[in-house]
Amino acid sequence: MRLVLMGPPGVGKGTQAVRLSRRFSVPHISTGDIFREGLAKNIFSDLSVKEHVYSGRLVPDDITVGIIRNRLMDSDCAKGFILDGFPRNLIQAKALEEILEDLRVCLDDVLYINAEFDILVKRISGRRICQKCGAIYHMLTNPPPQDCICPQCGGNIYQRIDDREDTVRKRLKVYEKLTKPVIDYYRDLGILKTVDGGVEADKTLDAIISII
Ligand code: AMP
Repeated sequence: MRLVLMGPPGVGKGTQAVRLSRRFSVPHISTGDIFREGLAKNIFSDLSVKEHVYSGRLVPDDITVGIIRNRLMDSDCAKGFILDGFPRNLIQAKALEEILEDLRVCLDDVLYINAEFDILVKRISGRRICQKCGAIYHMLTNPPPQDCICPQCGGNIYQRIDDREDTVRKRLKVYEKLTKPVIDYYRDLGILKTVDGGVEADKTLDAIISII
């Protein structure tokens, strides 16, 4: 299975990608996770990566495409992968096509998970994450304890810098301008399939499974 998950920030691509990755035993490749983990470990010599990620702008394409090219060549991607957060603009979409041509494989599906922006702003800006175990909380639906200590592992619960409301709105604007054309591109190629991400995650997963 070679799948691209597309959709605005906060629509639940990550949640669905983790579930699909387990179900179909293929790696989940999230460029956002790769950048955040790399920044936490200080592995990027290019200082602009930090600047772009923390301000909600796209990291330059040459850096991002290079990371994806290397990752897709790893042996665990031989039987498939789920891409989450890449490609995010037309340059990246065309670069992905070239990488897959070099690997002599092609995409099976591009899944577009969509929801209204107002729902997404509420969802993302209320999100809190445990630094240690990654457990996800939400100020409205699943609030963390007042001391912000994770009951599951004792780690600190925090808000991602780019989950703050002003940055979320910026990320949605970037998405609208740069990523929507990629969706049109895949629609024109006839491999785009759309599901509703404004409902409960289980319902979205059922819709995805029935489509792919
Ligand atoms: P995400 O968790 O997917 O919303 O990504 C968080 C941040 O990582 C984005 O706001 C960008 O700064 C960076 N990023 C993730 N994926 C890409 C990509 N495909 N191209 C450029 N920057 C990216």
